[in-house]
Amino acid sequence: MDPQQYFRHAESFNRALHAEHYAAGAGLKAGLDIAPIYARYLHLFEGERFEEVKTWELEANEKRYLLDFVASGYLHNRTAGLQERFAEAESDASVEWDGRQIPYRTVPVLIANEGDPVRRHALEQRHLDAMATFNPILEEREKRMQREARGFGYADYVELYDALHALDLHALTDRMRAFVSATDDLYFSALDTYLHEMHILRDDARRCDVTRIFRSPRFDGYFPEERLLPTLHRTMLDLGIELEDQSNIRLDTEPRPLKSPRAFCCPIHVPDDVRLVMQPSGGEQDYETLLHEAGHAEHYANVDGTLPFAYRWLGDAAVTESYAFLLEYLVTDRHWLERQMSFSDPAEFLHLVGFHKLYFLRRYGTKLLYEQQLHRADEPGDVASLYDELLSRNLGVEYGPESYLTDVDDGFYAADYLRAWIFEAQHRRFLQREYDDEWFRNPKAGRFLVELWRDGQRHPVEQLVRYMGYDGLDLGAVTEDIRTLMGVA
Ligand SMILES: [Zn+2]
Repeated sequence: MDPQQYFRHAESFNRALHAEHYAAGAGLKAGLDIAPIYARYLHLFEGERFEEVKTWELEANEKRYLLDFVASGYLHNRTAGLQERFAEAESDASVEWDGRQIPYRTVPVLIANEGDPVRRHALEQRHLDAMATFNPILEEREKRMQREARGFGYADYVELYDALHALDLHALTDRMRAFVSATDDLYFSALDTYLHEMHILRDDARRCDVTRIFRSPRFDGYFPEERLLPTLHRTMLDLGIELEDQSNIRLDTEPRPLKSPRAFCCPIHVPDDVRLVMQPSGGEQDYETLLHEAGHAEHYANVDGTLPFAYRWLGDAAVTESYAFLLEYLVTDRHWLERQMSFSDPAEFLHLVGFHKLYFLRRYGTKLLYEQQLHRADEPGDVASLYDELLSRNLGVEYGPESYLTDVDDGFYAADYLRAWIFEAQHRRFLQREYDDEWFRNPKAGRFLVELWRDGQRHPVEQLVRYMGYDGLDLGAVTEDIRTLMGVA
């Protein structure tokens, strides 16, 4: 197939697929109809395509991104029916609570907002029981993914993605293992303090208690819902970016029963049509979430429309995640809090968000370990107890085995998040050095970001960090951030 023709078809495929994911995720339709889209574009992913792309004359990164597109498209096509069945089961499921049937997808919000620990634990268990009913579908999907992945000339799914995403999984896993043990004392002493305030012993604590800690209503007064959108607009304006004039970004914050509780940003065309979808549930986390998704939206909406398909649509996902984190973590910046939220004494709040960040790095570091075992297990069900054991041990709260498959993103996205967290902290220090501590109210910094965003995900974070004068990705900066936020620097 001629490469130019391939890129045109690949672009149409992506637009159709993303439009479908958008409609389903935004709750505009029930169910997800992706199998017909894959069926229409099968020729993009068929077996020989992978070998053919290897022979095209392209830049090394461009070729790797396309090979990833072909392999992932192939695997997703082979499992599209199962993915649809899972989405259908999820949107049909409900949980009985207080004599009412609650849609399964809205239960996490209810759990986070439940202040009574006994009720919270009971509701979480009902949620997990409902989740466990999806596992047979997801086990079949996992097995099929593993089997099909071996067809690309790699030993297994793990090696395929390690190569196609250039993750250097071995080194990253070692660094995260060291990070987890180096932060044990800091993490567990903070966890015990927060649990103690809720009168819960660590031995009795469950995952939903950590969710509750992060959903602490204590600071809600500083983050009123009616100021959510105006704050986003003012924050972007400080950077010299007029969100109102960006007709290619559309915000969707309307509540809908079928809307996904997990916010997302979905480009339907890069850079001309980018949708940002969220379901506000109250409090500081809405601000973090909105800024996070706005980081993705600004990135996609500013991509140079003349770049090749692979650099506009594909690439290193850690890049877009790092831009999302950069805006999200404004909520953890003293100067931003003072300026935007008139929050002048945020020490306790910063401790909480520092703990939040520490929890997430430990959680994703642990997931990285676990997912390598999962993708090498002949029977996925065999590692359900390992999931529970690793996560419960490293996070100090009972996870339970039920979410051992729903808590996994394809293609080691966990590794992309980790690389994004590491890079974001280094990137932010670069901005502080080049501009000043209040880089986020400097339109020159805004122009610098817009220039970076123009490149899409062309350069992986390992390359970007070198452009900024560093030797490479280094956990030092993010570790220092956490310690500073938690007041132990
Ligand atoms: Zn994100």
